[in-house]
Amino acid sequence: MGDAFAVTRPYLPLFRNVPAARPGVCRVCHWGPNERRPVREPYEMCASCRRTTGGVFRHTPHVVPISLCARRGDGAQLYDIVARQRDPASPPGGPDRSRFLAATLARFHRAHRACLTRAAGGEFTLVTTVPGTRTERPVEAFHPMPRVVGMVGDLTGLHRPVLLPGDSESALSRLARRESDERAFHVIGGVRGARVLLVDDLFVSGARVQSAAAALFRAGATAVVALVVARLVDPASTSASARNWARASAELFDFERCCLCTPAAGFLGRPA
Ligand SMILES: [Zn+2]
Ligand SMILES: [Zn+2]
Repeated sequence: MGDAFAVTRPYLPLFRNVPAARPGVCRVCHWGPNERRPVREPYEMCASCRRTTGGVFRHTPHVVPISLCARRGDGAQLYDIVARQRDPASPPGGPDRSRFLAATLARFHRAHRACLTRAAGGEFTLVTTVPGTRTERPVEAFHPMPRVVGMVGDLTGLHRPVLLPGDSESALSRLARRESDERAFHVIGGVRGARVLLVDDLFVSGARVQSAAAALFRAGATAVVALVVARLVDPASTSASARNWARASAELFDFERCCLCTPAAGFLGRPA
């Protein structure tokens, strides 16, 4: 993926910078709940993450989205690629979805390897992806992320598909209700003592990522850091969301910053 810079460059307007944690920006998912129910602001951990990190064997406090996206409006192009499995629109002859996602992961990982490693408490020993579970997605197709990770030179050496979808119907229906359940995934192969970079394309509530992280911890992993391409947000859900989204949309996306290494200043979690 030596051309990650060139492949991603025409698409910078599709990305939105992810804010650093601060009051009103969740310390786990770097945004807030997607549901439109009353939330008390500013929060340290959002309502989604309180729900998806509770009740599991162990959760990961480290979720690193590369970009924000939205279902509608000016954040929807990235959502269409990531969640609806479309190829990027224009320019003609541009990359297909897999190549676009691989270039995005490659470029971000190269710039923020130190941030991710610090969160893991040491060098990663395993890279794996969250398998498809038929939840939170409009398209129930074959989950292409293993192929995407396989295209990223810096990740493919450590890549092993150790997670499989579980066969517990009750666990899968809990995922569909945006609750975590580690029985939604099986771990195959040894992960004892592993520091895992857990890659997924779309983060909605955290139920998928936290269930997968819990399954990995249960199987003996020491650390799990979730790297997700896009964190779906609902800009209209709260006043803080609306302000932070407007701010993210007004500035240029920068692959050189991430939610772990950017100072939180500027993102206002309290009413203006
Ligand atoms: Zn959260
Ligand atoms: Zn960083």
